Amino acid sequence: MEAKHEKAGKRGWADSHAHLNHPNFDGDISEVAEKLAEERFQVLNVAFDLPSAERGIELARTYPHMKASAGVHPHDAESVSDDALSRIRGMAEDENVVAIGETGLDYFRNRSPKEAQKKILVEHLKISRDSGKPVIIHCRDAFDDILPIFRENFDPDIGGVLHCFSEGADEARRGLELGFYISFAGNVTYKTAGRLREAAKVVPAEKLLIETDCPYLAPQPMRGKRNEPLFIQETAKLLAEVRGVTVEDIARGTAANYRALFLKEEPEQAEIIYWIRKSLYINVTRNCSNLCTFCSRVDSPFVQGHYLGVERDPTAEEILSAIGDARPDELVFCGFGEPTMRMKVIKKVAASAKQRGLKVRLNTNGHGSLINGRDIVPELEGLVDVISVSLNAPDKESYNRICRPADPENGFPAMLDFIKRCRDVFEVQATAVDLPEGVDIPATEKLAERLGVKFRLRAYDMVG
Ligand code: SF4
Repeated sequence: MEAKHEKAGKRGWADSHAHLNHPNFDGDISEVAEKLAEERFQVLNVAFDLPSAERGIELARTYPHMKASAGVHPHDAESVSDDALSRIRGMAEDENVVAIGETGLDYFRNRSPKEAQKKILVEHLKISRDSGKPVIIHCRDAFDDILPIFRENFDPDIGGVLHCFSEGADEARRGLELGFYISFAGNVTYKTAGRLREAAKVVPAEKLLIETDCPYLAPQPMRGKRNEPLFIQETAKLLAEVRGVTVEDIARGTAANYRALFLKEEPEQAEIIYWIRKSLYINVTRNCSNLCTFCSRVDSPFVQGHYLGVERDPTAEEILSAIGDARPDELVFCGFGEPTMRMKVIKKVAASAKQRGLKVRLNTNGHGSLINGRDIVPELEGLVDVISVSLNAPDKESYNRICRPADPENGFPAMLDFIKRCRDVFEVQATAVDLPEGVDIPATEKLAERLGVKFRLRAYDMVG
């Protein structure tokens, strides 16, 4: 192999759409499979016709790190008989088949008549619903036609993925609204893929998948060669760059999503500390004085593939023991909750970090003094270097609508007061989440200016 590949994340990589079931790999499948196992890859070999579905199942029976799907590509929709559909139904019962497809609409090549493609897509969606297995969608130049079919036939509780996504940010949002995951392939690395890269910025981490679509679509540096799952890292590098995270964050997050969607795995034990880039985050609490419309702490407490759904808040001793002698660029009190609800823990852990010369940041909704019934700013002095406050709105009315504070009368003014008290003591930044709709961002930025603090716009699921 040309490139040296990281065994990124403790669970490695998940290629959510590969075709090692393609005859192109027949000659060296055992070497390819062995290398993938070594590099901790999980691979879903997606069917494009009945023989490839059977081959995928055979591979999954041979290699524990592989799974299969059953279905027929829209190119061949015209030739799909009732008998073929029954065979797909039969294969869907196999424990190694974790998805239905790839199916969809392809008006770019139009190898089957449009009506045949639509009919067979609906049949695949039916099999997906009946079997409870998610659907894998291929869509080219047919987005407007495919959406009404999804609205009538797609079950978001079973789920599915828009594979090799090739549209822009608006289309990504529409797919997400319907409940799809979105998967990016090597074409996102191509020089002309500016629109696709915009789409890659708006997909929440918990809905992002990555794939190779091998042997096709090798990423830019390998373009023209047979694509392989190991080349996934080039696509991950590009996604990491446009999303402002690391390759390891992409690997961990997409592998967790793969396990959730296709393997239906329950999350592992919740993490009380977790890395994003070179910062070490502390999952202080799951409780919060807000219930922001965009926050997934209750329904899906994942951040960049880290599961944060702690059953109880950790003690300071547990946090300190988890941190051990780690030396991050900064220690961040964050988690999926409001850290200042646990001032004693913050003070103890931050004091230890400062003794070790670490930089400390507090990510807060700014309600700390309101929650604790006293001015907490003097208590944080000397323990915290940077404070990041979620401003999120330019006025109380929109703040209450977006952040839904437990105390709607005092939440917004208490947050503004906290920023004012902090700005002369710490490095303070006010943030707002870039929601698809509903927030006046320029007015929010102006408010931060008037408060005399830096302003940062955050992608709506991007922590860090
Ligand atoms: S303030 Fe933060 S933790 Fe609390 S609900 Fe809002 S986004 Fe979630």
